[in-house]
Amino acid sequence: MSVSEHTAAHQRAVVMDLPFDDEQDFLDAQRGFLAALDDTLIEATDGRVVWDLGPYGEMSEEPPATVNPSLWRQARLDLIHGLFEVVPGIYQVRGLDISNMTLVEGDTGVIVIDPLVSCETAAAALALYRSVRGDRPVTALIYTHSHIDHFGGAAGVVPDGDPGDIPIVAPAQFLEHAVSENLQAGAAMSRRATYMYGTLLPRGPEGQMTCGLGPLPSVGSLSLLPPTIDITHTGQELVLDGVRIVFQMTPGTEAPAEMNFHFPDLRALCMAENATHNLHNVVTLRGALVRDAHAWAGFLDESISLFAEASVVSFASHHWPTWGTANIVEYLSKQRDLYAYLNDQTLRYLNRGFTGVEIAEMIELPPSLASSWHCRGYYGSVSHNVKAVYQRYLGWFDGNPAHLWPHPPEAAAVRYVEYMGGADAVLERAEASFASGDYRWVAEVVNHVVFADPSNMAARELLARTYTQMGYAQENATWRNFFLTGAQELRGIDVAGPAGQNALALMAHISVTQVFDAVAIRIDGMRAAEHRFAINWTISDTGERHLLRLENGVLSNVADRHAPDAVLSVAVPRAQLLLLVVGMVTLDALVEQGLATAEGDRTALDTVRSLLDPPDPKFAIVLP
Ligand SMILES: [Zn+2]
Repeated sequence: MSVSEHTAAHQRAVVMDLPFDDEQDFLDAQRGFLAALDDTLIEATDGRVVWDLGPYGEMSEEPPATVNPSLWRQARLDLIHGLFEVVPGIYQVRGLDISNMTLVEGDTGVIVIDPLVSCETAAAALALYRSVRGDRPVTALIYTHSHIDHFGGAAGVVPDGDPGDIPIVAPAQFLEHAVSENLQAGAAMSRRATYMYGTLLPRGPEGQMTCGLGPLPSVGSLSLLPPTIDITHTGQELVLDGVRIVFQMTPGTEAPAEMNFHFPDLRALCMAENATHNLHNVVTLRGALVRDAHAWAGFLDESISLFAEASVVSFASHHWPTWGTANIVEYLSKQRDLYAYLNDQTLRYLNRGFTGVEIAEMIELPPSLASSWHCRGYYGSVSHNVKAVYQRYLGWFDGNPAHLWPHPPEAAAVRYVEYMGGADAVLERAEASFASGDYRWVAEVVNHVVFADPSNMAARELLARTYTQMGYAQENATWRNFFLTGAQELRGIDVAGPAGQNALALMAHISVTQVFDAVAIRIDGMRAAEHRFAINWTISDTGERHLLRLENGVLSNVADRHAPDAVLSVAVPRAQLLLLVVGMVTLDALVEQGLATAEGDRTALDTVRSLLDPPDPKFAIVLP
């Protein structure tokens, strides 16, 4: 779709506003280049495409009118791919997934930091490294934090997916957080993530233009090799394959379990995902628990005082490194003040009575931050991070009683449209607003028309055109992806989503409590309210005991307890528990195979399963 004169004018203004003649990032993103894949197409064993930068095409220096010039610049940087030397002994593979794999050479092999999302991309990254640096064995793994783009590919870098006895190092509580983030609201987050990352959009100037933080997540097979060494405190030291490492714990920053670390002998600093070349998210648009911007800033300050002066390079698991001690101090200081500024200014305004929506319009970064490329909002934005800080402290309610009990969207839409004189009258005025470039208002108004009557194709098309212009204008890649995906779905273009990734590898590591908690959030409460019984569980290979109780529409579970009046007592090995409760095997079959024992009324378990309400992986977003 073509760019309107208003969007074109917006893009020209961006060029005037920002220091495009500062080329340092391009120098840094290409510094130390050693090799690249001729063809970035990476396939799974079944031929499915896991990774391919090809569809982005050539990225000319001159931005196309359909992409915000600042985002275009970031996308060109994100799409630089290959193997790079960070300092002698430390190498990075960038551009083969949304995240970076870092390789640190030890006495006998190589330490892998953050093995990407998928086993296929991780294996390709390691092979690229070995093609230049020789066939060194992997002698240790380090996960910087509990997000899947930092551990999912681990099985791809060890022989036959088996780490043997190599150390696997992670921050304390890594495993718990690695699985729990996908358990509670995982289905909703996955659906919304297709909007955020633009995974259903074509790549290129009229579609997905990276996600700001990197190209996009790969879609291969996931693994989770559990850590064998926990980092529990700042100052903890390890020697891995002869390489000395000093750790800094940073819980509650970008991830609930995260750590930075320093290589004193190499004078190199790994900042995990706590300092990257963009404003990161206080809350992601796909949905997440709100992060603590104040704590984040505090840990960055601590990183500076602990490590910066003793570092000649700082690198992270996204984007390119920063070289030079003075540059590192300046870079980390600005990253620190970026999060502190948003936190403090939001609190200042909210204590004067302004709401999140208002504050988001009031706060601008000071010039020293706004003119630094790495503080720009390609992934997080000032607007949605401000609302996240508000949410963290005050929640969803802005205090205005008119907003305490609003109509839900469909009911409100029907009545708004009626009050505004009917759909045709609204669309006539909205077309005029569209022609004047007032897209934000058109989106707000025409969304009501679509929610009042989703069969109104004229309204859907106008809203789709509006979202398209808004998407083209965004500096923030995730906003762009939301607008353009919304436009695509309004036009009824149904694109098959990426094939479901095998989450069973992750599920194998969830605790028994987490298994039952995951079942509990699928229970249809009203139907369940007719039942009341308890089931005793014994995990036969670990000896754990759990009581599962259905009462008042709630399926609750308690560890270390059995009830004397339970209607059923089951003993089952850990590996079969999950398969059993999700219905992939039956209790009868397990008993017949001698894998489980069951005493009492086996239909109780059937009852629980009959009450489960599966999540909807393709729920409507831009339509009612
Ligand atoms: Zn990441």
